[in-house]
Amino acid sequence: MKYCQGPHCHKYKTKDRLRGPKGNKTYQTRRRSSFHYLGGNACSMACERDWFDKFGTMALDHFGRIVEPIKLTADNAWMKHERYYNPDNEAPYYWYNRLTEQEISMTEQQYNNPSLVRP
Ligand SMILES: [Zn+2]
Repeated sequence: MKYCQGPHCHKYKTKDRLRGPKGNKTYQTRRRSSFHYLGGNACSMACERDWFDKFGTMALDHFGRIVEPIKLTADNAWMKHERYYNPDNEAPYYWYNRLTEQEISMTEQQYNNPSLVRP
């Protein structure tokens, strides 16, 4: 079990956040085994936004900002694809270059190898 990381989670008044013994109940941060926002760390979109509003700038400054454009080149434009609609029975797995639009067939093993990022 873990707590929602939203800094204002306890301020959203919902029944499930109202905890504690009768006569001494308080609204509390949500606690769950899993969450679906903020990479599994926030209980709702509101808590995700609250986290980013408070910590987003600090996180960008800490991990480094993009200060010049990242460029799509023929070398880093490769992505893996699988054909779902395949009436001509072509090789189901292939490399696709987003810049040059070149396609190269690959094996299922290559497709499933996460360290293989270009042909
Ligand atoms: Zn929350």
